[in-house]
Amino acid sequence: MDLGIRGKKALVCAASKGLGRGCAEALAAEGVNLVINARGEQALTQTAWEIADRYQVTVEPVAADITTEAGRAKVLAVLGGQADILVNNAGGPPPGHWTNWDRDDFIRAIDGNMLSAIALMQALVPGMIERGWGRVVNITSQSVRSPIAQLGLSNTARAGLTGFVAGMARQVAEHGVCVNNLLPGIHDTDRATSLDTGVAESSGITRDEARARRQATIPTRSYGKADDFGAACAFLCSQQARFIVGQNLLLDGGALNVTV
Ligand code: NAP
Repeated sequence: MDLGIRGKKALVCAASKGLGRGCAEALAAEGVNLVINARGEQALTQTAWEIADRYQVTVEPVAADITTEAGRAKVLAVLGGQADILVNNAGGPPPGHWTNWDRDDFIRAIDGNMLSAIALMQALVPGMIERGWGRVVNITSQSVRSPIAQLGLSNTARAGLTGFVAGMARQVAEHGVCVNNLLPGIHDTDRATSLDTGVAESSGITRDEARARRQATIPTRSYGKADDFGAACAFLCSQQARFIVGQNLLLDGGALNVTV
């Protein structure tokens, strides 16, 4: 299926690895030119080079912390303040216990996983409205549907972003701009490896055993792949997705036993 977005320009945040990279690759495969971002310059430059070479699109890497105002300004300057597609993403807050988080911890989490995505939408969606076409995908988490207690900082920030999008997506849809959220369950990225390592260390088992136990809780009996995640993202950015607005699409192999 041709997604009809060849020649569009996308910003994909936090995209040198993992789910962000999966989204960048899937968009590039559809002929979308990219600006990609991450903090570490070396991995980002390498990723940009590999994607440009494989898909013959332009890929501009911008090394910056997307959760800071200065980082976002740097990325927006390279974009010339304009993009057709925006994929919001950043690393998740650390786990912990509700009794230990102070105001600064909450502000950091909200900055990273809520306000930075909102700021980029505020910067780029007006241009999409003016041009009568745009797509925004925010990478959130399955924890939006089923909060994970030790990830309370993430639950808090992502719930806030989800609430914002629920209202805003319906205010911009009449201008051809579709804003949606993608909710990853467990995917095979560095983050999954570090979660499994943590479980292995605390339970006195190997990392492979920790992974096998986690996989057994997922109906597909496997972790998701960044490529599959990227394909779903590219579809939400397609012409065909024009009637999908303000949704929270769960990609979790059926792990959450929920009906809606
Ligand atoms: P990952 O494999 O650890 O990749 C993270 C990517 O984001 C890297 O390219 C990293 O590069 C970049 N990054 C992190 N913080 C950044 C920042 N402040 N500014 C710019 N770039 C940043 O993570 P992932 O598994 O793809 O996860 C992506 C998001 O989905 C996270 O918010 C995570 O919490 C959420 N999530 C993931 C899963 C899962 O199973 N993988 C499940 C639920 C939710 P640098 O470090 O060089 O900046």
